[in-house]
Amino acid sequence: MCPFVGFAFLRQAACFALLPVSAAAGLFPAPVIPYFCAMNQIVDTHAHLYSRKFSHDRPEMVRRAIDAGVSRLYLPNIDGESIDAMLELEAAFPENCFAMMGLHPSSVQPDTWEAELALVEKWLQERQWAGVGETGIDLYWDKSTLPIQQKSFARHIEWAKDLDLPLIIHSRESNEECLELVKAGQDGRLRGIFHCFSGSVEQARRMTDLGFMLGIGGTLTYKNSGVAEVIQEIPVEHLVLETDAPYLPPVPHRGKRNESAYIVFVAEKLAEVKGIPLAEVAAATTENALRMFRTASTVA
Ligand SMILES: [Zn+2]
Repeated sequence: MCPFVGFAFLRQAACFALLPVSAAAGLFPAPVIPYFCAMNQIVDTHAHLYSRKFSHDRPEMVRRAIDAGVSRLYLPNIDGESIDAMLELEAAFPENCFAMMGLHPSSVQPDTWEAELALVEKWLQERQWAGVGETGIDLYWDKSTLPIQQKSFARHIEWAKDLDLPLIIHSRESNEECLELVKAGQDGRLRGIFHCFSGSVEQARRMTDLGFMLGIGGTLTYKNSGVAEVIQEIPVEHLVLETDAPYLPPVPHRGKRNESAYIVFVAEKLAEVKGIPLAEVAAATTENALRMFRTASTVA
């Protein structure tokens, strides 16, 4: 048997045995990880793949994700500056990349937020989108803009309901402020994702009781983030996976650029935390994501 065939066979054996990725990574060189995941379809519900951080290898990076079984990639918008690049990427991979429309809370600035919201509204009317966002409130970078962030978020809530689209919420250090507006706006028509979830068990339950999923990403793999302890208490039916690429890379890529293929490390950690097989994590979170985005249950 030639060494290449032997290697391929071993990789396949690792794949079917559903070995933890960390164990497989220790035994084989890097290519094993994407191959390992090929049988498990995973949805990346939140990735800024149009970012300039990918300008030198964007198509290759998307292909790596697809080869890893991550064939549906949802792109949240930031602001007027990111729209062209996002639409370009969606046009290049129409089967895999799905654009969403909104104004990121950190881009809600006193001089420009009204014009930015008018642009979002215009785009929302112009074509179909996979979701409304990302929106929400960020009190980590800037507390002074809270009143206008709340106004912007409230507008997005109304758009999501009117268009029957999931709302993608960024709630960095603002779970209470976001929950307050979601609760006020929930009339049975609102659904969505608290992306990059971080908070208490009690907050997580209030989010899921309001019909929202929790987006779980790289922070799950960080020691002392506290996310694993909380997620242990939350049934997998309320969870979806995300990368937030190029940000928040999971261990063992911490400190480097994140990309969608790395979502397998998050899935593996979630399997460990929940004590269930990786295939079950992939199947459950994919089904949750497809339900949230109202996509037929066949994955591209
Ligand atoms: Zn984001």
